[in-house]
Amino acid sequence: MQFNIPDTGQKRVVIVGGGFAGLTLARKLSKSKKFQIVLIDKNNYHQFQPLFYQVAMAGLEPSSIVFPLRKVFQNNKDVLIRVTKVKSVDPVQREIHTDIGSLHYDYLVLAIGADTNWYGNEQVRANAIPMKSVSEALYLRNTIFEDYERAVTAPNAEERQHYLDIVVVGGGPTGVEVAGSLAEMRNLIIPKDYSDLDRREINIHLIHGDPRLLNTMSPQASEQAEKFLRELGVQLWMDKVVKNYDGKTVFVDDGSTIRADKVIWAAGITGNTVEGLPEAARTRGNRLKTNAFNVVEGTENIYALGDIAFQQHDTPWPNGHPQVAQVAIQQGKNLASNLLKMEKGQQPSPFKYRDLGSMATIGRHKAVVDLPFWRFQGLFAWFTWLFVHLFAILGAKNKVIIFLNWVWNYLTYDQSLRLVIKPWKRTSPES
Ligand SMILES: Cc1cc2nc3c(=O)[nH]c(=O)nc-3n(C[C@H](O)[C@H](O)[C@H](O)COP(=O)(O)OP(=O)(O)OC[C@H]3O[C@@H](n4cnc5c(N)ncnc54)[C@H](O)[C@@H]3O)c2cc1C
Repeated sequence: MQFNIPDTGQKRVVIVGGGFAGLTLARKLSKSKKFQIVLIDKNNYHQFQPLFYQVAMAGLEPSSIVFPLRKVFQNNKDVLIRVTKVKSVDPVQREIHTDIGSLHYDYLVLAIGADTNWYGNEQVRANAIPMKSVSEALYLRNTIFEDYERAVTAPNAEERQHYLDIVVVGGGPTGVEVAGSLAEMRNLIIPKDYSDLDRREINIHLIHGDPRLLNTMSPQASEQAEKFLRELGVQLWMDKVVKNYDGKTVFVDDGSTIRADKVIWAAGITGNTVEGLPEAARTRGNRLKTNAFNVVEGTENIYALGDIAFQQHDTPWPNGHPQVAQVAIQQGKNLASNLLKMEKGQQPSPFKYRDLGSMATIGRHKAVVDLPFWRFQGLFAWFTWLFVHLFAILGAKNKVIIFLNWVWNYLTYDQSLRLVIKPWKRTSPES
C-alpha cells in the first residue's frame, strides 16, 4: 500500500520528525517552492522540550509548549503532513515504510531525535518516570499531585513518607531544573495548598553519576548550580550511580538505598531507531554517523539531523555535537540551503556549528549562563534564561500565554495548574 500523496513532478523530500531540526528544514525549504515536502511525525504537533519540566511542575499548560504541525504550514500547499511512525527505510527502493503505507522519496531526512536511555535496565524502565515527551511531563504532574493527595490521607507516617519523597536521577540541565522546581514547589506551594502536610517532611534527592553537576557547562556554572540547589534544600548525591529501582527502593552503587515511590529519570538519552539503515552507520549513543553534509554513512541521499546525527569533522566536537536545540536548528538551516544549492548545480557547504552558549535555570533568580565570551549566574542569568526561552518558543499566542503565566507566577509566588486531568471515556453510567 502506498501513501496517498499526489505526484506533482517536483522532487520529493521526506522529512521524518517535526522537532527542531525537521521543522526548521521544512519551513526553510517550503519557501523555495522547488520541492514537494512530506513531513511525517508520530504526533501531530511540535514539542518544545526545554519547557517540559514546567508542565510537569504545573507552571505551564501543555498546550502552550506544543504547536500543531498543520498550523505551521496551513498556507503552503507544497508541504504535506502525515501523522504516523516511520518503522523502516529501504535505501535501495528509496522508500519508507509505516503503518499507513510506503512512500517513495528523492531525499530522505531523518530528524527523529532521541529517547530516554535506560541503559538496558528493564526494572528501572518499568518503574521510573521519564520526561521525554509532553505526555510524560503530564503523567509526572498527575503522579506528583496524586501522591500529595495520598500523603494527606496516609494511615501512618511511614506510608506518608513514601508518597512525599522524590528522587531525581541525573544532574544535567533537565535533572537540575526538575530538582530545583520541585524544591520551590515544596517551599512555596505545599504550605499554601496542603496546610495539613509538613513541608519539612518532603525530601528531594538528586543523584548524579559525576562529581560535577551540569558537567557540559563551565566549572563556575556547575559550582553555582550546586550552591543554588543546596540553598533550596535539595539533597545531593554526587558521583553516585543508581544501580536499580524496583518501584519502592532506589539502589545506589555505594550500597545505600532510598525509599521513594517516585523516581524521575533524567540520566541520559539514546537515539531513536528506524530499521533498514546500514549497521555500520550506528555509533555511540545510538546516533547515525554522517559526513560533513549530514549524509548518513553508507547511503547517498539519506540525511540525519539534530540529536540523531553524529558528525566528527567539526574540530571542536570530535565526539559529536552536543544534543541541543541549536545544533538541530542550525543543521536544518544548512541542509535546506544545501538542497537548494544542489538543485542549482552548486556545491553544498559543510556543517559548522556556531556555539551560542548554554544555560540552565534552578529556580527564581537562580540560573547559570555560559556564553562564548561571558559567564554569569544569578538574577541576570535567570532573566536571560526566561528571555531566550520565550523568544525561542513557536507561535505568538504561546509566547503571550507563557509570558503572562510567568509574570503571574512571579508576582504571586504561585502557579495555578495543579490539576490532575486524565483523559478517559465513560464505559458505564456508574463510572
Ligand atoms: C526535558 C528536556 C529539556 C531540554 N532542554 C534543553 C534546553 O534547555 N536547551 C537546548 O538547547 N536543548 C534542550 N533539550 C534538548 C533539545 O530538546 C534537543 O536537542 C532537540 O529537541 C533535538 O531536536 P531534534 O529535531 O533532533 O529532535 P526532537 O526535537 O526530539 O524531534 C524529533 C521528532 O521526531 C519524531 N519521531 C521520532 N521517531 C519517529 C518515527 N519513527 N516516526 C515519526 N516521527 C518520529 C518525534 O515525535 C519528534 O517530534 C532538552 C531536551 C529535553 C528532553
